[in-house]
Amino acid sequence: MSFVPVQGTKACRKCGEQKEVTEFRVFRRYGQTDREYRRSWCMGCDRAYARQWRERNPGYHKEWSRRYRAM
Ligand SMILES: [Zn+2]
Repeated sequence: MSFVPVQGTKACRKCGEQKEVTEFRVFRRYGQTDREYRRSWCMGCDRAYARQWRERNPGYHKEWSRRYRAM
């Protein structure tokens, strides 16, 4: 896990392409509101991965969104 500047490029760990860091999704680790992290793979790969994951885990997404709405 590494901190990445807001500007510049970064190589995607999945497709290997150099992309603007804005192409990488930002996330915060629980309890660390002062630090932002970026995923090591780009949004395109992220979407593809999420789709594959949902196909492999049918029902989970539905369960998750149900719980999310309840919060
Ligand atoms: Zn990628």
